[in-house]
Amino acid sequence: MNFYHGLAERMRWQLVSQVGAANLHLATNELSPEDLGEAIRYVASHEIAHAVGLPHNQRANFVYPPESLRDPEFVRQNGHSASSVGRTRFNYVAQPGDGVPPERRVGVWDKFAVLWGYRVIPGATTPEEELETLNQWIVERADQPWYRFGSALFGMDVEWDPYRMTEGISSDPILAARYGMRNLMGASESLMEWILAPGDDYYELETHHLQLLTQWNRYAEHAAAAVGGSSTHHKRFGEDGPVYEPIPREYQIEAMDFYDEFILQTPGWALDLAQLRRLEHAGVVERVRAYQELGVQRLLNHARLARLIEQEAFLGDNAYRPADMLDDARAMIWREVSEGEPIDTFRRNMQRAYLQQAHHLLHEAESEHWAPPRSGNLRVGNNNDPPLNADLHIAQSDIRPLIRDQLQLLRGELQAALDAGVGDRMTRIHLEDAIVRINGTIGG
Ligand SMILES: [Zn+2]
Repeated sequence: MNFYHGLAERMRWQLVSQVGAANLHLATNELSPEDLGEAIRYVASHEIAHAVGLPHNQRANFVYPPESLRDPEFVRQNGHSASSVGRTRFNYVAQPGDGVPPERRVGVWDKFAVLWGYRVIPGATTPEEELETLNQWIVERADQPWYRFGSALFGMDVEWDPYRMTEGISSDPILAARYGMRNLMGASESLMEWILAPGDDYYELETHHLQLLTQWNRYAEHAAAAVGGSSTHHKRFGEDGPVYEPIPREYQIEAMDFYDEFILQTPGWALDLAQLRRLEHAGVVERVRAYQELGVQRLLNHARLARLIEQEAFLGDNAYRPADMLDDARAMIWREVSEGEPIDTFRRNMQRAYLQQAHHLLHEAESEHWAPPRSGNLRVGNNNDPPLNADLHIAQSDIRPLIRDQLQLLRGELQAALDAGVGDRMTRIHLEDAIVRINGTIGG
């Protein structure tokens, strides 16, 4: 078992950004040997779980409800995940005043997986003879989510199960992300007093500030996965029900609300000049633009739109229709236009990222980035047959008509705002420019 260089430093960044606000003794650069030891003890237990054969079980991080993760007694007994071998660091759901210790435990899934893999089954003399009993153990636990397995999802085009996202926790990952943002904003507000002592240079301030941005982006990924997403419950024939089920419409809309509030709106917590002007003379406008551009690209990703289209094809009005999702996204991203408010520098950049992503989807995006999951194509086919797992063909899907519709609607809204008169000069020339860009994308 190896520990990589810099582990203790990374632990400190994660403790401060995830649980520092709720555990002030951890919000420091001078962790006690006990506190650092506890953090490293968890990493050791995770690596030992690998050593006995357990793979990352991301699904096990998403079984305990947020209220349990805020309950000290519950967390002391169970930790914050049903497995020590999923990818998660600390319990960012617990809030200041909850009194929840950031401790990890070997989880119920870990114990079950070891039992399943190692327990001697009396009477079975070959591996095949064990199968019936092993399957029976799975089936009799099927309704208890803490006994389920699911590998981790990460990467822009494969964020489709919010209960398998890397570094996420709780049975309600969107509410969890809200709690996480509260802790994160608390950390940002107190960062200098927590980690700096007289005579320190600003290396630590910079690394912790960047860690807060990284953590922010994680929560964006966690929420976005619900939009057009599905959940996974691996089963074999003989067990009831489907393996993949669409995320309910209401939960997808909850994800959009989180995205609006924390990702698309200007992140004031990241703009504290008392911190920033100790680190750089300039740069934050571009840094925030880059994160928000990523946020817009993630939301208006072609693979996500394809998933929404497929959900609509089967669920109709019960689906979060792709046109509704795009209407909601447009209203969130261009809110100032309908409210007659001036648009700040950060939001103007984010809105241009939206126009650029729309242009990309209409004219550039191609299909090779995304194919449905492989389904083991063993049939004897003809070379002229389309592949079983056909790549997304953007030009023949509903994606381009949907985006064109959005740009036409937006152009009308921008023109109406300009006709009514826009007082703020930068807002006015931004809206005029946006219309020129839209004309360039869909024709005048
Ligand atoms: Zn691992």
